Formats: sequence, C-alpha cells, structure tokens
Amino acid sequence: MPWVKADRDLCKGYGNCAMTDPDVFDVDGDGTVLVLRESVPEADRSRVEAAVRSCPVSALSVQDE
Ligand code: SF4
Repeated sequence: MPWVKADRDLCKGYGNCAMTDPDVFDVDGDGTVLVLRESVPEADRSRVEAAVRSCPVSALSVQDE
C-alpha cells in the first residue's frame, strides 16, 4: 500500500497537490501542506503520484510499505 510523505519545511503552499488530489492533500491556514490520508489504496496510486509530481519544490513523495 502506498504511503504519502510531505516535507512541511520544503512546502511553499502553492497548492498544486491539493488541486490534483483533494482527497489526500490540503493546505492549512499557514499555507503549508496537510496530508489528509497517509496511506492510500493501490487504486489511487496514479492520482497521488500525479499530485507528487505537481509539487514545484519536490516536497512530496510516495513510498511503499
Ligand atoms: S504542491 Fe508542494 S509546495 Fe504546493 S502545497 Fe503541495 S506540497 Fe506544498
């Protein structure tokens, strides 16, 4: 099962991830990414990976357990 990691120190709050996959990513009031679900079903992997790729500062990653 894929696991989602976010480096909140790198995040600049652009919000690309939340636009691409709002089920997994949000941006908090301080403009920093929030991971809403850390583990995602295999069926959602491609959408999560697209959100990871959309981050301009490479703050996101997907890892396998
Ligand atoms: S796309 Fe990257 S910089 Fe933008 S909110 Fe998401 S993690 Fe942060």
